[in-house]
Amino acid sequence: MYDEIRIEELEVFAKHGVFPEENTLGQKFLVNVIMKTDVTKAAKGDDIHSSVHYGNVCAFISDYMRNNTFKLIETVAEHIATELLLKYNLIKEISVEIKKPWAPIGLPVESVSVKVNRGWHRVFIALGSNMGDKEEYLRGAVSSLEKANGCSVKKVSSFIVTEPYGGVEQDDFLNGVLELKTYLRPYELLELLHSIENAAGRKREIHWGPRTLDLDILLYDDIKMNEEDLTIPHPDMKNRDFVIGPLKEIAPYLVL
Ligand code: AMP
Repeated sequence: MYDEIRIEELEVFAKHGVFPEENTLGQKFLVNVIMKTDVTKAAKGDDIHSSVHYGNVCAFISDYMRNNTFKLIETVAEHIATELLLKYNLIKEISVEIKKPWAPIGLPVESVSVKVNRGWHRVFIALGSNMGDKEEYLRGAVSSLEKANGCSVKKVSSFIVTEPYGGVEQDDFLNGVLELKTYLRPYELLELLHSIENAAGRKREIHWGPRTLDLDILLYDDIKMNEEDLTIPHPDMKNRDFVIGPLKEIAPYLVL
């Protein structure tokens, strides 16, 4: 239940476009923004410092669009949305629409536009390792997530030693759970987790087999999805004490 601060039809002359002429001659762009935030404190105190200063936001957008050149307005919209989320703590969700009224398509059209919606999400991730220096792999994963764009690690559970799961003869596991604040979408996050696993030398050889690092998405806000390669909430989490224990430690009031 957020309030909204809106910017409508901010005009910027910039050089984004796929055609080389667009990158040299430039053209007019119109920008619409909806920022979801809570203005209660600003309204009660009548204080601009407790709100998002729309004048500063407009100046940022105008400078950003004039000082950078992209082929796609998709890229422009995405960059502005994520930059503003990072810059203003008070913005919880944002929608950025970029319109191109002079798009060179050789047909009469009022304008073409792209609108992106981004926001902060609360995610829980399970970590596991049962090869080599297990604690080092788990700590490395926490630090890689902390450094990744659009990610901030909020809490990390204790790491616990657990017996292997799934019937393959192998070494004990070290397991833990962390809470992440991120603007990445579920598949972007899965891709990031895979890249961190791969950097830790993870090889997908035996299903349920030994691994240097395993990272799973347990919960992502309260979404439910069931795609071929991504199921959220993680289908097995309820049966795994080594997940539920650390999860309760860092989020005791979470309703599953
Ligand atoms: P794993 O062996 O745990 O690394 O998982 C193998 C595959 O499970 C991954 O490549 C994902 O495509 C898929 N998968 C399905 N749901 C999830 C989830 N919630 N978190 C992580 N991986 C998932």
